[in-house]
Amino acid sequence: MQNVLVTGGAGYIGAHCCKALAEAGFTPVSYDNLTTGHRDFVRWGPLVEGDIGDRQKIADTVRDHQVVAVMHFAACSLVGESVVDPQKYYLNNLAGTLALLAGLREGGCSRFILSSTGAVYGEVPSGLISETLDCKPINPYGASKWMVERIIADYRAAYGLSAFCLRYFNACGADPSGVIGELRDPETHLISRAMMALQGHAPDFAIFGDDYPTPDGTAIRDYIHVTDLAAAHVLALRLLLEGHAGGSFNLGTGSGFSVKQVLAAIAAETGRAVPWTIRPRRPGDPAELVADPSRARETLGFVARHSDLATIVRSAWAWHQLAHPAQS
Ligand code: UDP
Repeated sequence: MQNVLVTGGAGYIGAHCCKALAEAGFTPVSYDNLTTGHRDFVRWGPLVEGDIGDRQKIADTVRDHQVVAVMHFAACSLVGESVVDPQKYYLNNLAGTLALLAGLREGGCSRFILSSTGAVYGEVPSGLISETLDCKPINPYGASKWMVERIIADYRAAYGLSAFCLRYFNACGADPSGVIGELRDPETHLISRAMMALQGHAPDFAIFGDDYPTPDGTAIRDYIHVTDLAAAHVLALRLLLEGHAGGSFNLGTGSGFSVKQVLAAIAAETGRAVPWTIRPRRPGDPAELVADPSRARETLGFVARHSDLATIVRSAWAWHQLAHPAQS
């Protein structure tokens, strides 16, 4: 069995990747400080409790577990929060990742997969976003990830780091087992918030902006099922183990849906209309982010198989009914 260190393994995407790793024959070693992660999400391998900024502990963990590669999910990931509190994002996502990379060098691990984001691109011309576009992030979250991608490029050239930077578009959905899913406090993501509104847990649910230059005025995103994201990580890992140097890749579907289209899909699945009001645009939100997924298809062999809106909504709704029972 080969051990893979998974920072943020007790979080939403990290836990789904741990499950996919175990199913692919690897042992995921979760490394998490449990500030936002959930101890009971760690089910497929050991948990090491620690901060990514603890360089010595990272080096020790890499040596103790003879780690062959690292998947790095531990990060702050809320666009709106990053605008209000950029320091939190630069300390955790940038300084924290620098310490992590230093610990990995000390421990002797040179294969790395970064949880990056479509937010590195910023406000883009309409149409599919390919990796050839310049990255001009418009919020501190996207900027923090872009800076890390730049650092990784330098480490690749200077230290021989092999690294994939996987730029997720909108992660959503949940594993059908019902034991892991999106669970955070406060919850800010569209699909989870809308479902919490249906359950009576988010009475202030609103659409942020209906004046975007899109067909129905609401912002368009590319929603990708977390199970598909996890599968892409395993594909990237296998390439690293075969000696691939890595690179930056979009993980999306190539199809965009507006906020109102997502709410309609939720109504179709649950049989209930989500109650919403309109509020102003959320600072830092671009009008449209839709991936061109062709580079990941060609290099990783990645195809999204669970990311049609109906499957996403069905799996998320099943999870939400377990995680947040409706208020009686
Ligand atoms: N959104 C919304 N109401 C909410 C949460 C999100 O209208 O309660 C919108 C948000 O402005 C964006 C889209 O839904 O256009 C997706 O936002 P989310 O926070 O899920 O992901 P992000 O794109 O910020 O990573």
